[in-house]
Amino acid sequence: VSGPGELEVIERIRRLLSPLGGAAEVGIGDDAAVVAEPDGGALLLTADVLVAGVHFDLALSDPSDVGWKAVVANVSDIAAMGGEPLYALVTLVVPPGFALSGLYEGLAESAGAYGVQVVGGDLSAGNELCVSIALTGRCPRCPPVFRSGARAGDVIFVTGPLGASAAGLRLLRAGESSGACVEAHRRPVARVAEGIAAATAGATAMIDISDGLATDLRHLAAASGVGARLEEVPVAPGADLEEALTGGEDYQLLFSAPDPAAVQAAFEAARLRPPLAVGVCVQDPIELTLAGEPLAGRGYEHNLTW
Ligand SMILES: [Mg+2]
Repeated sequence: VSGPGELEVIERIRRLLSPLGGAAEVGIGDDAAVVAEPDGGALLLTADVLVAGVHFDLALSDPSDVGWKAVVANVSDIAAMGGEPLYALVTLVVPPGFALSGLYEGLAESAGAYGVQVVGGDLSAGNELCVSIALTGRCPRCPPVFRSGARAGDVIFVTGPLGASAAGLRLLRAGESSGACVEAHRRPVARVAEGIAAATAGATAMIDISDGLATDLRHLAAASGVGARLEEVPVAPGADLEEALTGGEDYQLLFSAPDPAAVQAAFEAARLRPPLAVGVCVQDPIELTLAGEPLAGRGYEHNLTW
C-alpha cells in the first residue's frame, strides 16, 4: 500500500501552516526558504537530516564521512539558490556507545572547507544515529534562484557528469575501498561557486541533484510548469546511465537559463569547468523525455503516513 508520497505530504504541511502567513518570500518546497530581511536583503534557511539505516550505512561509511556529507547536503541546498552558506546548528541523536569524535571531525572539516560557522545545536541519546543540520545563507550578488522560473526555450544545464556517488556506493558494497567513484560517495562536493555563477548568468530555475536527475528534473519542471526534452545525460566515468539518472547525492546543480553564451562566459570568468547543456525546456508540462523516449527512473522517495 503506498502512502500519499513525499511531495503530497509536503503540500499538506504547507496548507496546515499557511494561515500563519507572512514572512517567507518563498517557504516550504524549494531547496531553501527565503526570508526578507529588514535591510532589503534575503536570508536563506535550510535543514537536512541524515539517519543511519536510511541515508547511510555505518558498515560502509566512516563516521567522519557521514559528518562531511551532512554539511555538504545542506551547503548544496544553499548553493542551489545561488547562495553561499553562513551559520549552522547541528543536532545529533546518538545511540549508546557511539563515539562522536570521528563524526565531528568530518563535520568540522567540511564546515571549514565551505566557510560554515557552527554556532550551536543539540545532543540527545536515541536508538539510531541521526545528524540534523540547519543552515543559513545569503545570495552575494543576485536575487535567489528558485525552482519555479524555468520557461519554454530555456537551455537545461548540469554542472558535471552524474552517477559517481551511486557507482561509489555500488563499489563499496562490492568490497572496494578506493577510486574516484568511492571518493565521490564518501566526500561529495557542494557546488557553491557554480551556483553563484549560474545566478549571475541569469539562471531562471535551479535545484541540486540530491535525489537523482530524473527526480530532481521533475521537481524543477513541475515547479516551473514546463516540460523538459533531454538530448543526453553526462555519465561520470565508472558509472552507468541508470546511476546517472537515479543516483542521489551527486550534488551537481541542475539549472535552466535562456542565454547559453552568458552561462559559458560567467563560468569562464569564475574559472569554473563549463556546465554541460543537456536539453531544453518545452511548453508542454507532460513532456519529459530523454533522446525522444519518456524519461525513466525515479529517485528515492520516503514512505510517509499522514
Ligand atoms: Mg535540494
